Amino acid sequence: MSRVYNFSAGPAMLPEEVLRQARDEMLDWQGSGMCVMEMSHRGKEFVSIAERAEADLRELMNIPDNYKVLFLQGGATGMFSAVPLNLLRGRTRADYVNTGAWSKKAIAEAGKYCQVNVAASGEASQFMSIPPRSAWQLSDDAAYLHYTPNETISGVEFHQVPEVGETPLVADMSSTILSRPVDVSRFGLIYAGAQKNIGPAGITVVIVREDLIGEARADTPMVWDFAKQAEADSMLNTPPTYGLYLAGLVFQWLKRQGGLEGMAEINRRKAEKLYRAIDDSDFYSNPVDPDCRSWMNVPFVLAKPALDATFLEEAKRQGLTTLKGHRSVGGMRASIYNAMPEAGVDKLIDFMRDFEQRNA
Ligand code: PMP
Repeated sequence: MSRVYNFSAGPAMLPEEVLRQARDEMLDWQGSGMCVMEMSHRGKEFVSIAERAEADLRELMNIPDNYKVLFLQGGATGMFSAVPLNLLRGRTRADYVNTGAWSKKAIAEAGKYCQVNVAASGEASQFMSIPPRSAWQLSDDAAYLHYTPNETISGVEFHQVPEVGETPLVADMSSTILSRPVDVSRFGLIYAGAQKNIGPAGITVVIVREDLIGEARADTPMVWDFAKQAEADSMLNTPPTYGLYLAGLVFQWLKRQGGLEGMAEINRRKAEKLYRAIDDSDFYSNPVDPDCRSWMNVPFVLAKPALDATFLEEAKRQGLTTLKGHRSVGGMRASIYNAMPEAGVDKLIDFMRDFEQRNA
């Protein structure tokens, strides 16, 4: 068996220990005689798996008691609709910060349900920087302010949580959740698709302050009504049971890495060495404002784009895969989520130096 270092933006690598444990428990989960996939979601075995996953996530993120944790379906894209449906609470306006491709999709979807005020936009810098908080134009009557802490495609990340006063702050944390500690109490709602730092695709985590739910629009699909799902412990209907089990194994793995403080230290180191390698070279470049470069997604371009295909091919031969940049921006993108070992980043840097020497 030879596993590769997979730099995919998502679905992305999972920790090998987690995959091995899942393999070992595949046919008989802890003496139950069943695979987790075969269990009733209402049976005591699966209920214990779901409860432990929630408890571990609460511990990892230090989630206050007045927040509900939901495991839903529909991906982050589903939440682009579910957030306005649940959080408008009779209001007609919401503020959105536009920092790139994923913000834009959230804005377009919210526009079906309310007036969107784009409070700030990174467009003037081609989304290579984040507009300073002092330039944001917030509305007086916004139901919430939505932003995207990490733009997965352009590799632009907020390194601080913006201050927005009393307005509930909503964050699409799909590509940065669990990469470092965050103060959950600063947020009204956090959501994330699972397929980067949580587990396999299919689960969407929602963390929401209790007082914000219970006033969903009457036509909200019941599976996306946060209050109804909270009441049903996210089991209003059959949840993605196996995905939730794997997410639970990832949470246990994260605890073994020293929790989010431990993970942040590793992530910072991985990102810093990769950016340093890019900045130290005349052959590779990254156009993002150094103050908001992502720890998770590192796009870069070659000085000779004609060599892109050769670069990708040679990298792949060395077990460094899925480095091709998003189709909308071209070049390369190395996604280095929690499960990418530091050795994978080291190997990528060595390969990049060697490739440069042979081709510059
Ligand atoms: N938001 C962000 C920041 C993302 O990176 C992605 C997926 N790449 C999405 C939303 C969409 O997620 P999903 O495919 O789970 O709907």
